[in-house]
Amino acid sequence: MPAVTVSLEEMLQLGDRIAQDYFRAGWIAGFQGSLGAGKTTLIRSILGSLGFSQTLITSPTFSYLHVYDPPREDLPPVYHFDLYRMTEVSFLQLGFPEYLEDPKGVSLIEWPERLQERTPEKMQTFEMRMVGEDRRRVAW
Ligand code: ADP
Ligand code: MG
Repeated sequence: MPAVTVSLEEMLQLGDRIAQDYFRAGWIAGFQGSLGAGKTTLIRSILGSLGFSQTLITSPTFSYLHVYDPPREDLPPVYHFDLYRMTEVSFLQLGFPEYLEDPKGVSLIEWPERLQERTPEKMQTFEMRMVGEDRRRVAW
Protein backbone atom coordinates (compact mmCIF):
# COMPACT_ATOMS: atom_id res chain seq x y z
CA MET A 1 0.00 0.00 0.00
CA PRO A 2 1.61 3.28 -1.08
CA ALA A 3 1.70 6.14 1.40
CA VAL A 4 3.12 9.61 0.94
CA THR A 5 3.31 12.79 2.99
CA VAL A 6 2.95 15.86 0.83
CA SER A 7 2.82 19.65 0.93
CA LEU A 8 -0.03 21.58 -0.66
CA GLU A 9 2.02 22.06 -3.82
CA GLU A 10 2.89 18.38 -3.97
CA MET A 11 -0.82 17.54 -3.81
CA LEU A 12 -0.98 18.63 -7.45
CA GLN A 13 1.56 16.00 -8.47
CA LEU A 14 -0.14 13.41 -6.32
CA GLY A 15 -3.45 14.19 -8.00
CA ASP A 16 -1.79 13.76 -11.37
CA ARG A 17 -0.26 10.42 -10.34
CA ILE A 18 -3.54 9.09 -8.98
CA ALA A 19 -5.40 10.24 -12.09
CA GLN A 20 -2.91 8.45 -14.34
CA ASP A 21 -2.98 5.28 -12.27
CA TYR A 22 -6.70 4.89 -11.66
CA PHE A 23 -8.97 7.35 -13.46
CA ARG A 24 -11.21 5.43 -15.83
CA ALA A 25 -14.93 4.75 -16.22
CA GLY A 26 -16.25 2.69 -13.33
CA TRP A 27 -13.63 3.83 -10.82
CA ILE A 28 -15.04 4.42 -7.33
CA ALA A 29 -12.79 6.06 -4.75
CA GLY A 30 -13.50 6.96 -1.14
CA PHE A 31 -11.50 9.67 0.66
CA GLN A 32 -11.41 9.27 4.43
CA GLY A 33 -10.08 11.78 6.91
CA SER A 34 -11.21 14.50 9.29
CA LEU A 35 -12.25 18.01 8.25
CA GLY A 36 -9.24 19.76 6.75
CA ALA A 37 -7.41 16.53 5.95
CA GLY A 38 -7.36 17.60 2.30
CA LYS A 39 -10.03 15.39 0.73
CA THR A 40 -11.52 18.14 -1.41
CA THR A 41 -8.07 19.44 -2.29
CA LEU A 42 -6.93 16.03 -3.51
CA ILE A 43 -10.09 15.49 -5.54
CA ARG A 44 -9.61 18.94 -7.07
CA SER A 45 -6.03 18.00 -7.94
CA ILE A 46 -7.07 14.75 -9.59
CA LEU A 47 -9.74 16.46 -11.68
CA GLY A 48 -7.62 19.49 -12.44
CA SER A 49 -4.87 17.33 -13.86
CA LEU A 50 -7.38 15.88 -16.34
CA GLY A 51 -8.64 19.28 -17.43
CA PHE A 52 -11.92 19.35 -15.54
CA SER A 53 -12.89 22.94 -14.91
CA GLN A 54 -11.27 24.11 -11.68
CA THR A 55 -13.84 26.76 -10.97
CA LEU A 56 -16.69 24.28 -10.82
CA ILE A 57 -14.99 22.13 -8.27
CA THR A 58 -15.87 23.34 -4.81
CA SER A 59 -16.67 21.42 -1.67
CA PRO A 60 -20.21 20.12 -2.02
CA THR A 61 -20.75 19.75 1.72
CA PHE A 62 -24.13 21.40 1.52
CA SER A 63 -25.32 19.82 -1.69
CA TYR A 64 -24.02 16.24 -1.24
CA LEU A 65 -23.33 15.65 -4.92
CA HIS A 66 -21.79 17.60 -7.75
CA VAL A 67 -21.75 16.21 -11.26
CA TYR A 68 -18.89 17.34 -13.50
CA ASP A 69 -19.14 17.03 -17.24
CA PRO A 70 -15.94 15.80 -18.82
CA PRO A 71 -13.78 18.27 -20.72
CA ARG A 72 -13.12 15.72 -23.45
CA GLU A 73 -15.23 13.02 -25.06
CA ASP A 74 -12.91 10.22 -23.98
CA LEU A 75 -13.30 11.03 -20.28
CA PRO A 76 -16.20 9.85 -18.12
CA PRO A 77 -18.41 12.19 -16.10
CA VAL A 78 -17.50 12.56 -12.43
CA TYR A 79 -19.81 12.30 -9.46
CA HIS A 80 -18.28 14.05 -6.46
CA PHE A 81 -20.09 13.13 -3.26
CA ASP A 82 -19.66 14.73 0.12
CA LEU A 83 -21.65 12.58 2.52
CA TYR A 84 -20.68 14.38 5.73
CA ARG A 85 -24.27 15.23 6.59
CA MET A 86 -25.93 12.42 4.77
CA THR A 87 -28.67 10.33 6.31
CA GLU A 88 -30.14 7.09 5.05
CA VAL A 89 -33.30 8.90 3.95
CA SER A 90 -31.46 11.56 1.97
CA PHE A 91 -29.32 8.89 0.31
CA LEU A 92 -32.36 7.21 -1.16
CA GLN A 93 -34.44 10.33 -1.82
CA LEU A 94 -31.66 11.96 -3.79
CA GLY A 95 -31.29 8.92 -6.00
CA PHE A 96 -27.65 8.36 -5.08
CA PRO A 97 -27.61 4.63 -5.74
CA GLU A 98 -28.01 5.27 -9.48
CA TYR A 99 -24.94 7.50 -9.60
CA LEU A 100 -22.75 5.70 -7.14
CA GLU A 101 -22.18 2.55 -9.16
CA ASP A 102 -22.71 3.95 -12.66
CA PRO A 103 -20.19 1.95 -14.71
CA LYS A 104 -19.92 4.81 -17.20
CA GLY A 105 -18.94 7.38 -14.58
CA VAL A 106 -16.36 7.94 -11.87
CA SER A 107 -17.45 8.39 -8.25
CA LEU A 108 -15.23 10.30 -5.83
CA ILE A 109 -16.63 10.19 -2.32
CA GLU A 110 -15.78 12.28 0.73
CA TRP A 111 -16.88 10.67 4.01
CA PRO A 112 -17.48 7.23 2.45
CA GLU A 113 -17.88 5.87 6.00
CA ARG A 114 -21.44 7.19 5.82
CA LEU A 115 -22.30 4.54 3.26
CA GLN A 116 -21.88 1.76 5.82
CA GLU A 117 -23.33 -1.41 4.31
CA ARG A 118 -23.95 0.42 1.02
CA THR A 119 -20.22 0.81 0.44
CA PRO A 120 -19.50 -0.51 -3.06
CA GLU A 121 -17.39 -3.65 -2.94
CA LYS A 122 -14.95 -2.27 -5.47
CA MET A 123 -14.42 1.10 -3.77
CA GLN A 124 -10.78 2.06 -3.41
CA THR A 125 -10.01 3.84 -0.15
CA PHE A 126 -7.64 6.77 0.34
CA GLU A 127 -6.85 7.52 3.97
CA MET A 128 -5.79 11.07 4.69
CA ARG A 129 -4.59 12.89 7.76
CA MET A 130 -2.87 16.04 8.84
CA VAL A 131 0.81 15.91 9.63
CA GLY A 132 1.40 19.39 10.97
CA GLU A 133 -0.24 22.43 9.46
CA ASP A 134 0.97 22.14 5.88
CA ARG A 135 1.55 18.49 5.26
CA ARG A 136 -0.89 15.66 4.70
CA ARG A 137 -0.34 11.93 4.70
CA VAL A 138 -2.21 9.94 2.07
CA ALA A 139 -2.30 6.14 2.07
CA TRP A 140 -4.12 3.88 -0.38
P1 ADP B 1 -11.37 18.30 3.58
O1 ADP B 1 -12.12 18.19 2.29
O2 ADP B 1 -10.67 17.02 3.97
O3 ADP B 1 -12.20 18.84 4.72
P2 ADP B 1 -10.00 20.51 2.31
O4 ADP B 1 -9.28 19.99 1.13
O5 ADP B 1 -11.30 21.20 2.08
O6 ADP B 1 -10.17 19.32 3.37
O7 ADP B 1 -9.09 21.52 3.12
C1 ADP B 1 -7.74 21.31 3.37
C2 ADP B 1 -7.16 22.62 3.87
O8 ADP B 1 -5.83 22.43 4.31
C3 ADP B 1 -7.13 23.67 2.77
O9 ADP B 1 -7.43 24.92 3.34
C4 ADP B 1 -5.69 23.61 2.31
O10 ADP B 1 -5.23 24.85 1.79
C5 ADP B 1 -4.96 23.27 3.59
N1 ADP B 1 -3.70 22.54 3.37
C6 ADP B 1 -2.51 22.87 3.89
N2 ADP B 1 -1.57 22.00 3.54
C7 ADP B 1 -2.17 21.09 2.77
C8 ADP B 1 -1.69 19.93 2.07
N3 ADP B 1 -0.43 19.52 2.16
N4 ADP B 1 -2.58 19.22 1.39
C9 ADP B 1 -3.88 19.59 1.33
N5 ADP B 1 -4.38 20.67 1.92
C10 ADP B 1 -3.54 21.42 2.65
MG1 MG C 1 -14.15 18.43 1.81
